Order: sequence, then structure tokens, then C-alpha cells
Amino acid sequence: MLIGIDLGTTNSAVAIWQDGEARLVPAASGEVLTPSAISLDEDGHNWIGTSALDRRATHPGDTATSFKRAMGSRTVFSLAGRDFQAEDLSALVLSALVRDVESLTGCKPAEAVITVPAYFNDRQRKATRQAGELAGLTVRRLINEPTAAALAFGLQDKGDREPFLVFDLGGGTFDVSIVEMFDGIVEVRASAGDNRLGGDDFDTALASLVRERLDPDKRLAALAPARRDTLLLRAARRCREALSLSNEAEFFVTLDEETRLSTLVGQDEFEAACAPLLDRLRDPIVRALRDSAIEAAELSEIVLVGGATRMPVVRKAITRLFGRFPNATVHPDHAVALGAAIQAGLAGRDAALEEIRITDVCPYTLGVEVAEPDAHGGLQRGLFSPIIERNTPVPVSRVQSYSTLSDGQTQIEFGIYQGEAREVVRNIRLGEIRVPVPSRPAGEVDVEVRFSYDSSGLLEVDVHIPLDDSRHNLVLVEEEDRAGPEDLEARRARLAELKLHPREEMQNQALIARAERCYEDHIGAMRHAIGRWITHFAGALDTQDPHVIREARDRLSANLDGIETSGPL
Ligand code: ADP
Ligand code: MG
Repeated sequence: MLIGIDLGTTNSAVAIWQDGEARLVPAASGEVLTPSAISLDEDGHNWIGTSALDRRATHPGDTATSFKRAMGSRTVFSLAGRDFQAEDLSALVLSALVRDVESLTGCKPAEAVITVPAYFNDRQRKATRQAGELAGLTVRRLINEPTAAALAFGLQDKGDREPFLVFDLGGGTFDVSIVEMFDGIVEVRASAGDNRLGGDDFDTALASLVRERLDPDKRLAALAPARRDTLLLRAARRCREALSLSNEAEFFVTLDEETRLSTLVGQDEFEAACAPLLDRLRDPIVRALRDSAIEAAELSEIVLVGGATRMPVVRKAITRLFGRFPNATVHPDHAVALGAAIQAGLAGRDAALEEIRITDVCPYTLGVEVAEPDAHGGLQRGLFSPIIERNTPVPVSRVQSYSTLSDGQTQIEFGIYQGEAREVVRNIRLGEIRVPVPSRPAGEVDVEVRFSYDSSGLLEVDVHIPLDDSRHNLVLVEEEDRAGPEDLEARRARLAELKLHPREEMQNQALIARAERCYEDHIGAMRHAIGRWITHFAGALDTQDPHVIREARDRLSANLDGIETSGPL
């Protein structure tokens, strides 16, 4: 079976293509979104999703979130004494989604379409594919998130559509795509984005806005930094989400029995505090419009995707930018996973999708480092020579010729870069190629460099030297990242060592994590009551009697629902 996965910074979701339509698959908890969060204990037991978020309140150091931001980097996450990279943690999230599909359909999916931010670079895309492999999945295709959302939006009625803009603001990334549909062809005209802009940044802005007045006595300074940040950012997120429903919301942190720090935040001051972030929404939009040669006035719709587009300050900024209201007809949380499942249906050549085709673009420029003669007879090094320019339709293959720089040179080296700046230092280095060349006077050896960019957004580099007709085919790998198959196997084995709580047990552990978080969130009589509920539930677990446990679980969960649905203030 082929599944579609939205592997998000904050939330992930999985959907399947079944009976001619895309369907979301709920997690064991019944929810469609699985928070991209992992928590671990010393024994290697792991919590994934909502229960991991709950457990973060009590075990911030053993819990990781937003690791997608570190995809393809060498960042190490240490949880309960074990080290992971972002791909490993993402693989755990993917495994959880695979299990959810398995328990719904009874069969274990082997292949997946996984979405990535359009602006993910080559290294981040390869890391995503690797995460899929670590989770035991064959990744048939990577598809850009806004493209997936456009598929879900555009195929609602299968009619032709004038160009529309998909505005996807999630927890950590911002993507814009301009898409058009005619005769069953879904054509992405341009994509642009900001890899480092999302709801998380609004949380940080809000936390620094209130920090002083929330805590005049500097009580927070006494806490360990990890715990302090967790408390503040969680409070910020809660307050920010409450601000989506009303004009004023409470920002509060419960420190201990006696101390509850609290302050009120108004919509206007929040808006002022995030003005620099709101300003950053403009650039990618302008760039996508310019690259596609489409005027803002020609856009038929502004389609909102991503949880952070629920913020009134964001909607207001969009309305101001475009001079009209955005379209909120697709579900901001579901569109990307549904689109991935549609792509899975396309890849599986489903009859219902026969006439649909999709064309995407490469959202950034790819090229190599070169040197050029300067005015004084010297060389200016470190310049970027574009080979594939941004927003070229993919798949694409382009070739450029370069020649040797010095007499008798026997090797030629190219740094490979992605970005728009003239100087390579300001672009992202993807790797390097090094090939032998026949020894000749400077400038006499031509080297043809071919870049091929496939529909998943993965780059391949071929070098041809006409003089001796030698050819080199290089799948691009960063020197230090050269992870062989053995390495992948070893990493997979290490992940397999982690123990997942059995399904029944998983519910119990998730509930305890939630209750302990609630305990920290409250004070006084309520906190006391939660403490007693936890003790009671622990007693029920000790009996090892499934009936007693089930009953106690239902009661505890109803009790917690009772205190958590009574509103944010
Ligand atoms: P990602 O694609 O990065 O996983 P999502 O699209 O799920 O992210 O969006 C997550 C972000 O949306 C978080 O920053 C979250 O706080 C924000 N969000 C979700 N619901 C709301 C809401 N009602 N109001 C404001 N922000 C929200
Ligand atoms: Mg998303």
C-alpha cells in the first residue's frame, strides 16, 4: 500500500488513497494530527505525539520537538542518555503513522509519498528520504507541501482554475506557491518561502514581550534553562492560540503551589510585537509573483494552509497585503496530508485520477562556484554560477561549460551551492565534486557540468570532459555525510531497540503523562485532586487486572477532560 504523509515541524498526519478519494487516518488517540514530538526514558521506552508533548512538561530534557528544523544538519538530540539526529526522530514519528495505518486497514504500508517544505534544500530532502528509509518505508516521491495543499484544494471540483496562491504558515516554515489548473494539469508556476519562519517564532516574540511584566521578581531565573524555556514557550503557545479566539488572553506559568505568574496580553500589543515577523511574510510572496510574472490582482484566491494561519494578526496582514480576504475553505491542518495521498493515488495510477497531471518547479537556484578574471589581471574567486535557475519546471536537466584556470592543472573542483546570492559564501553549500582533467595550458580544457533535478527535488550531477571523453556521474553527497548502507542499517537497528509501549500500555502511559502535566498546570485544591487521581490510577495499574485498569483509566480521563475543557481563562 502507498500512503501520503505530512511530516510537519509541529504536527504530522497520514492519509490513504482509497475508493477514489483521500482519507485521513486517525492515531490511536482518535486524533488526526500527531504532534511531531518524541519523549524517551532511560529504559528506551518511547512516547510519540500528544503523550510526548504532555511528558515534556515533566521531562523537558528527555523530550524533543521541532526537530524537523534540524533535518539534514549534524545537530544531535540527547534524550535519556541516547543520541539521535533529526532523521532518527522523524523516523520514529513516521513509524507511529505507519502503525496507525496498519491498525486501521490491517495491512502494513511499504511505500510512501512524503511532503517537504518547498523551500527545503537538497540536503534536507535527502534527510527526509532517509528518515522514511529508517522507518522501513520506500519513499516513492517527495512532494512540496504547498503543492500537496494545492492538489487538495484544486481537485475539490476538478474544474479549471485561474492562478491561485497557497499560503502555508506552519510551526516552523513558511511556503508560498502560485498554482494554476487547466485540462487536468496542476501547474505550479512558482514557489518561494522562508525555512525559518513559523508559529514557533511568534511564540518566542510573545514570550519576550511579556517576560518582564510576567516575572518582575525574577522567579524564572532560578529554574534550569531547559525547564524555563519549556514553560515559557508552552505558555506562549497557549496564549497565542487563545488570541485566535478573543482580543485578549492570559499568559500564565504555574511555578509551584503558591506561585502562578500571570499577565494579560491584548491583540494589538501582540501584533506590534510580531511586526518584524509579519513583515517577513511579504518577501516570498513578492518573489513568487515576480518569478511567475503574475500580478497580485490576477490571483483568483489566496488559500490558507497551516495552523499558524489561524492567527488573526496573520490574516489581517494577508488581507492588507492583497487588499482582499483570503480563502479558508480547505482545512488548514488536513490539506497537505490529503494532497500527499492524492499524489500517492497518482503514483499508483489510480483510475479516478487518470486525467490529472502535475508539474512542479525547483524553488531555488542551483549552481557551482567559479572564479572570474578581475580588472587587474587577477582572479575573483567565490562567485556563484547558476546552472538551474529558480522556478524552472521540474524534472529538468541543464548543462554549463567551464574551463580550467591554471596551466598544467590535473584536477578540477566545484563547490555546489544553492541560493540566489552572487557570492557563494552567502548561499548554502550542498557539497563538492572533484574530477581529474588532462594536463594542458590554462583555459584549454573544457568541463561540462550537467545538473539534473528530479520531480522529488533531488539533485544529480554529471561531469563530461570532451577532450578525453571522460564522464563522471555523481549523486551529490556532502563529504562528511557519506553515510553508507551499513550505517543506515545500524541506525535502523538502534531505533528498533527502543521499546514502544504495547498499545494498551501506551494509553496508560499517555494518560499518566497528561495527568502529570495537568498537575503542573494547576495549583491549590485542583492540583491536590489531580494528585489523588494519579495515585488512584497508579494503584489500579498495580492490580494488573484489565477491568480495574480500564475503569480507572476511563475515570481519570473523564476527570481530566472535565478540567481541561473549561476554557483557557
Ligand atoms: P507544521 O506544518 O509546521 O507541522 P502546523 O500547520 O500544524 O505546523 O501548524 C502548527 C502551528 O500552528 C503552531 O505554531 C500552532 O501554535 C499554530 N496553531 C494551531 N492552531 C492555532 C490557533 N488556533 N491559533 C493560532 N495558532 C495556531
Ligand atoms: Mg505543515
